[in-house]
Amino acid sequence: MPRRLFGNTISESAHLEAEAAGVPLNHAALSSPARQLWLAGLENLVLDLVGHTKFNANGCLEWIGPKDGRGYTRTFAFGKPWSAPRLFYFMWKGEIPPGHFVCHHCDNPKCVLPDHLFSGSQGDNIADACRKGRMRCARGEDHKMHKLTANNVQEIRRRYQRHDVTGNNGLALASEFGVHPNTISALIRGRTWKSIS
Ligand SMILES: [Zn+2]
Repeated sequence: MPRRLFGNTISESAHLEAEAAGVPLNHAALSSPARQLWLAGLENLVLDLVGHTKFNANGCLEWIGPKDGRGYTRTFAFGKPWSAPRLFYFMWKGEIPPGHFVCHHCDNPKCVLPDHLFSGSQGDNIADACRKGRMRCARGEDHKMHKLTANNVQEIRRRYQRHDVTGNNGLALASEFGVHPNTISALIRGRTWKSIS
């Protein structure tokens, strides 16, 4: 009985992982009441996860649940710890191949919205896309990569001075350069890229 949330059914691999965590392998052969209990277990996990999230104004679904000592989103499921975006990706989109990153289209490390997540290996064109500033990538979720070049920063600062509605404002520049508005704000205010004038 697939459950639909965020437009995706819970992934087949999430079901398989639940089995690996101790649920009888041949759950399809279970009697109906037992099967309902097994599905309820997965449903409780889903409800618990979704209950620790909140939509922000940009349409991201942000994790507001537990964080580890370093402030990174942290969840526990199927007998092991996960970063929240990795678990949401796994639950709604499927297996994450070994060594693969779960990346954000939206430049928001707290975001767990399946539509905003994708996975890829370092060898794919992901690193290239990161360099071009189109997306944020993270091993787990927390390894920041440079997305803007010094030239980008100079252009953004120059255009921000004009501050009009035709693409020269914080939100529009963030969208054009594929970074979070906070990134634009920080470099405009000189908190980042201090060496570039
Ligand atoms: Zn997002």
